Amino acid sequence: MNLKLLYHLIILFLLFGCIDQSSEVSAKPDWGDIYNKSDRISKGWKYIIIHHSATKSGNAKGFHRFHTKQGYGGLCYHFVIGNGKGAKDGEIQEGFRWKEQIAGTHVDINSWYHNVFGIGICLVGNIEKQKPTEKQMGSLLKLVKKLMKEHNIKAENVITHKTVPHGEMTWSNNSVNVQIKRNKFASTLCPGKKFSINKFRSKL
Ligand SMILES: [Zn+2]
Repeated sequence: MNLKLLYHLIILFLLFGCIDQSSEVSAKPDWGDIYNKSDRISKGWKYIIIHHSATKSGNAKGFHRFHTKQGYGGLCYHFVIGNGKGAKDGEIQEGFRWKEQIAGTHVDINSWYHNVFGIGICLVGNIEKQKPTEKQMGSLLKLVKKLMKEHNIKAENVITHKTVPHGEMTWSNNSVNVQIKRNKFASTLCPGKKFSINKFRSKL
């Protein structure tokens, strides 16, 4: 490990180790590195964030290509669950971010906390228009329960993309201030109105 990388890791460790709702740290992190995942960050998992692909079909490989082109540093999510079009119905596909235990890029940069600490799971399909398949829901339930148990994640921290708090960041040369606003959320419909988080949570 070279010195620059070690320095980055120490800064990130200090930053992510102490920020909760709001705090100040004495160094400016490299947000570009966090976003593009050129730094490999893993500080444990606190959230599970459910998404839909907003496409009729798809699979991890295809989304990986698309997200790479879009500059998200490869597949944004940790897992993709197929709907029978592009991948088997209910098939759980594991992305490189899960294999390597690194942060996601599945929510906005302003909600970076949930990228770093959130496991992103994407249900293939446009769930604004069509319900997820029964097999997808079965696989999602199985996967979420397993992740909750293994990583000690509470049911209240199993959330949807649209309920991810939108953080606000300000920084100057030598300090960073991050505030997660509880009354402001990511501006997205994801994972669509046909997915009920309350119904899903009642099964956890
Ligand atoms: Zn989403």
